[in-house]
Amino acid sequence: MTAPLFDKIAIIGLGLIGSSIARAVRAQGAVGTIVASSRSPDTRKRVTELGIADEVVATNAEAVEGADLVIVCVPVGACGAVANEIGAHLTAGAIVSDVGSVKAAIVRDMGQYLPDSVHFVPAHPVAGTEHSGPDAGFAELFENRWCILTPPEGTDPKAVEKLTAFWRLLGANVETMTPEHHDIVLAITSHIPHLIAFNIVGTAADIEDVTQSEVIKFSAGGFRDFTRIAASDPVMWRDVFLNNKEAVLEVLGRFSEDLAALQRMIRWDDGKALEELFDRTRGIRRGIIDAGQDTSDADFGRSHSNED
Ligand code: NAP
Repeated sequence: MTAPLFDKIAIIGLGLIGSSIARAVRAQGAVGTIVASSRSPDTRKRVTELGIADEVVATNAEAVEGADLVIVCVPVGACGAVANEIGAHLTAGAIVSDVGSVKAAIVRDMGQYLPDSVHFVPAHPVAGTEHSGPDAGFAELFENRWCILTPPEGTDPKAVEKLTAFWRLLGANVETMTPEHHDIVLAITSHIPHLIAFNIVGTAADIEDVTQSEVIKFSAGGFRDFTRIAASDPVMWRDVFLNNKEAVLEVLGRFSEDLAALQRMIRWDDGKALEELFDRTRGIRRGIIDAGQDTSDADFGRSHSNED
């Protein structure tokens, strides 16, 4: 185990991601002291019972006092309000980060409340599951997953380097890009796939000639994977779509055009075009396995992997 990278981390929001960070930090000895705060007494009580933080405090302002690393782990739509609460209590020189699945909105919403004396380095660990809350987290969640940093222009490179070292210690591969680029990449790789899952599960439930019990009984293969993704946290996903509106709508436009082309191939019995497309998509799947981002096992290899 190496020397801690930070003296004191404040983790705000102890759901799946926040509690996984707490567990991974502890497992790696990445930080001296772990302080946790969450808005609900139930979550604070549970975090205390689980023993995954050294201190559990009632307010976010109290949590960040003296911390040299602060990570906000709440839904994207709540990050601005949290930044407003902690802004005046931050220690000069601290690194302030987050884990939100959308980045341009975070830079806009949090940035305005953070003093110039701290380093703001937004981040998105592209790792997750469809489960929520402090019991859902686990220390290995970030291993061999990507963590994308989106530092605003002019951020001290040393702060970016230090946060990179932190995420690497937690097992992640780190890449840096602009918030806008992140949002378009994630719109296609994560947000639209989730939207498709929410939509298809909703459609299946609405088809009147097929009963709910048949949907459950025959949900082998493809549909079962969609239902798992569609079980993801409703508030988190509401905030993702409301805060990545432009990129999602742009990619959705392309998706609708391609879907119309597929519709046409089926209508006109164009088997050759269908086969060519499926051949191409099979190749992409192979590329993902070769890159070590999944296994060839059924059910995504890890039954809980979600990568959003
Ligand atoms: P989660 O398990 O549902 O936990 C959410 C946490 O946020 C809880 O601690 C909750 O506090 C707190 N919270 C909810 N609404 C809040 C509000 N209005 N004000 C203050 N705190 C609030 O969610 P999660 O999956 O950890 O997601 C947290 C963040 O990680 C989100 O920004 C999400 O975009 C991002 N993310 C998620 C995944 C994923 O797969 N789930 C992957 C990568 C990034 P209480 O429990 O005290 O109510």
